[in-house]
Amino acid sequence: MKVIHDLNEIHTQLEFARRDSKRIGLVPTMGALHDGHLSLVKRANDECDISVATIFVNPTQFGPNEDLTKYPRTLEKDLDHLRQAGCSFVFVPAADKIYAPNHSTYVEPPTVANRWEGEIRPGHFRGVATIVLKLFQLVPAHIAYFGRKDYQQLAVIRAMVDDLNIPMRIEACPTIREQDGLAMSSRNRYLSSEERKRALGLWHALCRVQELVNDGEDRVSTLNDAMQSKLKDASVDSVDYANVVDADTLEPLERFQGQGVAIIAARLGKTRLIDNLTLSQSSSNSNYDGCRDDAQGGAD
Ligand code: AMP
Repeated sequence: MKVIHDLNEIHTQLEFARRDSKRIGLVPTMGALHDGHLSLVKRANDECDISVATIFVNPTQFGPNEDLTKYPRTLEKDLDHLRQAGCSFVFVPAADKIYAPNHSTYVEPPTVANRWEGEIRPGHFRGVATIVLKLFQLVPAHIAYFGRKDYQQLAVIRAMVDDLNIPMRIEACPTIREQDGLAMSSRNRYLSSEERKRALGLWHALCRVQELVNDGEDRVSTLNDAMQSKLKDASVDSVDYANVVDADTLEPLERFQGQGVAIIAARLGKTRLIDNLTLSQSSSNSNYDGCRDDAQGGAD
């Protein structure tokens, strides 16, 4: 595994590989890697000749009162994980090389960025779109792998790639969960053990919506109320949103008519978590393993 910090070097090495007809898969991350990230690397390894993980805590996607400075940085451990996962290249650029002091160009994010995370975290998707486009320029991959865990981010990137005619295929990968259903996240490590228990409320709320849909409920107001009530039962500290939305536009739905995704953002103490579940009308939703206490990982 080659670890590269230099912007020109990563580009040159991968251009060589491309000329050699190698297929390149890109996995952008902010580090503090867990099995969710590694599942993306595995997918890139399965489908490509060369996998490239990037580790960069992107300052422009954090708001002024967010956790940029305390965001977990665990580079040595991350490199061990990536080595074990069989990753070919790791690109770890320095912040001042990505954003030179005179840097002033940003991507105006697409419409699908406007609501939800976009509303609560102003500027977040501008930062995400900008860094992802920069990484696409620096790492000339054929396919980029993103997790469905960050559902709106995935939608933003897909729209950007379409709108700007970026020659990159975007692949969505399932959300990897802990045994009990909590979506893996670098931010889970902020949770106290008591908050960790309450955090399971997000998964329980998502499961409840799928159960109601299985029972034939199609009124989205009822589905949204059910999520709120599960989150309240779990004593999460606050709910930023809990809505069933159109799977493509992320606009609110009135009725569930076969397609939709339940999205949640909630806070436990100082930690903000997001999760989602793509809903299915048939009771055999492959995105959902049921909401038992022993639910296996790998859903959605
Ligand atoms: P991050 O390091 O949080 O920016 O995430 C890097 C990539 O990993 C993004 O495409 C995320 O959607 C994806 N990811 C994060 N958590 C998970 C998870 N639990 N399962 C699958 N993918 C994930």
